[in-house]
Amino acid sequence: NLGKVWLQSYPPEVSPRLDYSAETVPQVLERTAASYPDHGALSFLGARMTYRQLWQEVTRFANALVHRGLRPGDAVCVMLPNCPQAIIAFYGALQAGAVVVMTNPLYVERELQYQLQDSGATFIVALDLLQERVLRAIEKTKIEQVIFTGIQDYLPIPPNLVNASAPPPQGANPPVVVSATIHRWPAVLESGRSEAEITSRQAEDVALYQYTGGTTGTPKGVMLTHRNINANTQQIFAWFYKCEPGKERILCVLPFFHVYGLTMGMHLGIAVGAELILLPRFESDKILETIDRERPTMFPGTPTIYIAIINHPKVAQYDLSSIKGCISGAAPLPVEVQQRFEELTGGRIVEGYGLTEASPVTHVIPLWHKRKSGSIGLPLPDTEVKIVHLETGAAVAGGEVGELAVKGPQVMKGYWNRPDETHEVLRDRWLYTGDLAYMDEEGFFFIVGRKKDVIIAGGYNIYPREVEEVLYEHPAIQEAVVVGVPDPYRGETVKAYLVRKAGAEISPAEIEQYCRNNMATYKVPRVIEFRTELPKTLSGKILRRQLLEEENEVAATK
Ligand code: AMP
Repeated sequence: NLGKVWLQSYPPEVSPRLDYSAETVPQVLERTAASYPDHGALSFLGARMTYRQLWQEVTRFANALVHRGLRPGDAVCVMLPNCPQAIIAFYGALQAGAVVVMTNPLYVERELQYQLQDSGATFIVALDLLQERVLRAIEKTKIEQVIFTGIQDYLPIPPNLVNASAPPPQGANPPVVVSATIHRWPAVLESGRSEAEITSRQAEDVALYQYTGGTTGTPKGVMLTHRNINANTQQIFAWFYKCEPGKERILCVLPFFHVYGLTMGMHLGIAVGAELILLPRFESDKILETIDRERPTMFPGTPTIYIAIINHPKVAQYDLSSIKGCISGAAPLPVEVQQRFEELTGGRIVEGYGLTEASPVTHVIPLWHKRKSGSIGLPLPDTEVKIVHLETGAAVAGGEVGELAVKGPQVMKGYWNRPDETHEVLRDRWLYTGDLAYMDEEGFFFIVGRKKDVIIAGGYNIYPREVEEVLYEHPAIQEAVVVGVPDPYRGETVKAYLVRKAGAEISPAEIEQYCRNNMATYKVPRVIEFRTELPKTLSGKILRRQLLEEENEVAATK
């Protein structure tokens, strides 16, 4: 085990702390706030907050939730882009004993409603711009209290953003009639005391229901405990040992509603007393300007983000030399992208791999160690790995491809309320990832594809079934199947094959518009092909693989 040997060779003064025992997630923040009270914790569009202030806000928010009736184990949904409130709501809700559901603000009503119903959330904290969507979605859910917040709650609104911000919700007179109580963020914070009065939960308690399609495609809540999340940040830190606690500045472009941004950006940063530089949206101009101005040292991202940066027409005008280390995950990182990004910044970029069910990271190329292009690296400390034969389930020999299975302190407790699906992927505490991989003679791992059909477009996971279900609901559509087709920019993009109902008339543009009304934009099929029938197995399953092969043949002849 190359990783273990390497770990043992650390000089004692930087030997990482790998103790996954007792702390909860908010206790990590509390410890950092005690060690670095006056260090910058957050920088958001020019506004700053120290660790002392952050911990005070978190404590106020936690107390306010408890006083509003939150009970330990209740689920709190947070539907925000990266901003101070997302961090305060996350740690505050955990400190109050809740389980947090981090939700994508791009979700349309039905997607949000599904998560609220499935998780049984009783509170939601959401961006005020989304108020209409949120108020409609909470119908038929258990939501009792809604807290709206907006950019103006932490910033005097800069003149160029005035038009972009919605008028504050009208409190008692929302446009949609709801039975839940509606609050504004400042009033909630004001009502909370700044002294901690909450007894927080145990490390083994569930901290997150993190929604993902997993291997079977239906979105379900991955139960991650406080220990899972803390363990994963410590494990990652061990691979990045040159990070200096109290000195790093982390650029947080990856959204906190995805566990990769949450663990690698937010919680790892907080655990090491870094200043988090928050960007609410992925825009390459803003990223470059922010790196130039804010001088981040670390920058977790996805290949799509790095590709956008290296191809930006004005990249040479910006000073990117503050970047020391980046980790790229969620999809394969092309070697040219790695090389070009390193030339531009002078820092290092390495690839990692993981999945929501593992909090998420299981493998990374150690940042300042031997590396191999195209590899996802070595298993993190205390992560056991095996590659099993797809049919027999037996471990295969080195160099052979099989399904990657992992075991370690970062592996989830299971799927919320879904014992059957849990058993499918978690057996004997081994997590079967659904990804196909092999290990080389030195112990480096390589991903070759995925067993599952998840489409990854621009770093977002799209589960074919979710899109197909919406398509099937259209009155003119008889059959629908969606697959991921190669896209030079987004990695993959969604293609839908459709069979129209007899006599029905519908154009690709109408389908696209219908999809835009019913799903988040990134899921909308960009390519639509009508067929008279779809290839199927004898038992009636649509043969996705055949469609993909046809797609590849067409691509090869171009
Ligand atoms: P998620 O649960 O959203 O984090 O998605 C996890 C999936 O992303 C994995 O099961 C892989 O299929 C894919 N993935 C993550 N990292 C990589 C990588 N470095 N290379 C290829 N696929 C990856």
